[in-house]
Amino acid sequence: MISKMVGRHSVGSKRSAKPRQGAKESRPTNTDSNHGRIQILDHPLVATGLSILRAKTTTPDLFRRQLQEIAILLFAEASRSWGIAPIVVETPLASCAGAVLAKPIVLVPILRAGLGMLDGIIRVVPDASIGHIGLYRDAETLRPVSYYDRLPVKIAAAAVLLLDPMLATGHSACEAASILKAQGARHIQFLCVLACPPGVQQFQSEHPDVPIITAAVDPGLNKFGYIVPGLGDAGDRYFGTG
Ligand code: URA
Repeated sequence: MISKMVGRHSVGSKRSAKPRQGAKESRPTNTDSNHGRIQILDHPLVATGLSILRAKTTTPDLFRRQLQEIAILLFAEASRSWGIAPIVVETPLASCAGAVLAKPIVLVPILRAGLGMLDGIIRVVPDASIGHIGLYRDAETLRPVSYYDRLPVKIAAAAVLLLDPMLATGHSACEAASILKAQGARHIQFLCVLACPPGVQQFQSEHPDVPIITAAVDPGLNKFGYIVPGLGDAGDRYFGTG
């Protein structure tokens, strides 16, 4: 059920659906209360960056920069609720209280377009571990087939971010999340730039425990499985192969 009220928006809600003043905002965590949760990031830099990504006149170099920057903003939102552990920091003048992230981070791009999001996020958390999942679509069944996965060994205790700019049919994201779970991941969040209702529905039905954080939810898919209005083929635009 994708109309469930989630985070700051429900799927299909108008962008003006801001939290009431004084209302406590819910935060993404990996608790049962997050089941079926999608968070649409309402931020001016996301809105302007997304417009650049969508424009067909945007050159590959600008597309790359914008995708990386939006990925960083999505990452900042995803990590908002993460636990921190206290440390003591020595400044040039005195000791003071500091913090480190409580959990290690694992970034997992779905090949190939997910690499664009990775390129941005890794600049913010350069010590994160990186896993890869490669999927292609079988021409007959149209189902994703895994051709490659290589994930860090210590994934169970980590905050795992699954990265793919486009949540279209949802089949690839579902398969990738299943691969992560099969290899022990327990704290997964899915980051995408654009989603659409069929993809959200599919993903939430198979992985209701994995929150989705996205920049926008577009109205639908065309017959080729592209999000409309969307931004075209994210991988082709990022890598200049279109
Ligand atoms: N993958 C893309 O790159 N674009 C879409 O619109 C859908 C899937």
